[in-house]
Amino acid sequence: MQTAFTLAQLADPNIAEAEKILRACVHCGFCTATCPTYVLLGEENDSPRGRIHLIKEMLEAGEAASREVVKHVDRCLSCLSCMTTCPSGVHYMHLVDHARSHVEATYRRPLLDRFIRSKLLRVLTDPKLFRRALHAALFAKPLTPLLSRIGLKPVAAMIRLAPFRLPWSGSTLPRVVTAEGPRRGRVALLTGCVAPALAPEINAAAARVLARHGFEVVRTPGEGCCGSLSHHLGRKDEAHAMARRNIDAWLVEMNNGALDAVITTSSGCGTTMKDYSFMLRHDPAYAAKAASVSAAVRDVMEFLNEIKYLKFVMRRQIKVAYHPACAHAHGQRITEQPKQLLAKAGFQTKEIPESHLCCGSAGTYNILQPELANRLRDRKIAYIEKIEPELIAAGNIGCITQIAAGTGIPVVHPIELIDWATGGLVPKALKVAGGKERM
Ligand code: SF4
Ligand code: SF4
Repeated sequence: MQTAFTLAQLADPNIAEAEKILRACVHCGFCTATCPTYVLLGEENDSPRGRIHLIKEMLEAGEAASREVVKHVDRCLSCLSCMTTCPSGVHYMHLVDHARSHVEATYRRPLLDRFIRSKLLRVLTDPKLFRRALHAALFAKPLTPLLSRIGLKPVAAMIRLAPFRLPWSGSTLPRVVTAEGPRRGRVALLTGCVAPALAPEINAAAARVLARHGFEVVRTPGEGCCGSLSHHLGRKDEAHAMARRNIDAWLVEMNNGALDAVITTSSGCGTTMKDYSFMLRHDPAYAAKAASVSAAVRDVMEFLNEIKYLKFVMRRQIKVAYHPACAHAHGQRITEQPKQLLAKAGFQTKEIPESHLCCGSAGTYNILQPELANRLRDRKIAYIEKIEPELIAAGNIGCITQIAAGTGIPVVHPIELIDWATGGLVPKALKVAGGKERM
């Protein structure tokens, strides 16, 4: 695609990077067929190709983002399905990330929208506050129709998503989980912000599996939200500050003893942490540090697949619909590893038709764009139910929450199944009242 940036504009390294991406796009439109918003709405401006064109015009003009551009950029899930499909290697993720920060810097959103976005980030990135909000949401569920009617659709959407069964306490991960048997290494486990409040059992299962297979697992003081929620809302400075704080924390841990990997159980966090090296590439104090941390980041299923010596003590012939989270499949190209591990553990893993399309979770998307998100969730669940699974596995807390809000089929993280199959606990979602197992 031809571009018309001036030399002065290209002196900005962010514009120069955007220009490089724009020039790679040949406008072929292959990506439109796999874009969830284009599939739902059929609008060119809600396709990757349309958005790329809108972003090009916006950046070339060098002016404030218009309401029209903001509408279509906001509707993008950042699912990155278009990157998997694109034959020209267009790095849509870096382009839309830059567009979102341009929007945030130049466009004044309506007051209510600004208020909701800032409170949303404040709550979601603080596990204690988020846990309190989740408990309050249980009592507010009857109010959701009223909240929607008075224009507070995102608040209503957040309350609807709050699960009925909540943990009473947050993450109980100790500072160090000691390796069992012969020691094979040492890893840091990101506790994150949303997972400790919603499902602390996921990180607990990961720590047990890693320790059971010879890894000392450390929870690093000072680490916190990976920054992806802020990053996807265009709050670049906030996201970069979170990235720097985590990098500092993990570098201290690396210097305290060899660290084989920084592990995450959330695909969304993993994609962002692997991108710290790009996000901080122009920061002389952090570029090299960010590159070494990004190189050490592994999704837990990716890491376990690499170490190749899991000891399964139980094989359950359970039919599992594996939902590939977009940040896994498109963001990190982790496609086969989780399915291979589940198959080795004896689970009958089933592909979900149209599995490349997002479930609608996408960070804060299901709160800020609830109508589109619900349509995507209903579409996803209809396909899942067609294959009649006994349970659903998804490697991202956002997908787990989104899908579980629309189906009675239990939804678990694959690491919980691996924990179960290697001698750990039965996944919480497979227990019914009284603590008995469903299957
Ligand atoms: S598939 Fe790639 S090159 Fe073709 S329009 Fe989409 S982004 Fe551009
Ligand atoms: S990231 Fe997803 S929603 Fe956004 S343009 Fe690409 S395919 Fe469409």
